[in-house]
Amino acid sequence: MKRVFSSFNQQIVHHAKNLLEAAGIRVLIRNEHLSSAMGELPPAECQAELWVVDEANAARAEEILRTPSAPGADWICSCGEMLGGQFTQCWRCGAYRRA
Ligand SMILES: [Zn+2]
Repeated sequence: MKRVFSSFNQQIVHHAKNLLEAAGIRVLIRNEHLSSAMGELPPAECQAELWVVDEANAARAEEILRTPSAPGADWICSCGEMLGGQFTQCWRCGAYRRA
């Protein structure tokens, strides 16, 4: 088991999970419901985490998450924001979509 991604935005984590599963990589989401169930925890404890079941797939998983999606597809910025395919720049941190 190796953690390859985490975010406070569970929608993004689920998107990353879908990307990896589409590539045939088995993944798990941990802490998924913690943020709503345990509001007293410090924020770092409430992130949803994406774990690769087989560590042999971890490097490939990280590469998939870093690789830009197909044109027009949703993409994930390096800051963790998920953006629609029509956007070429992250509204949150200003980074441009990697070509
Ligand atoms: Zn960003």
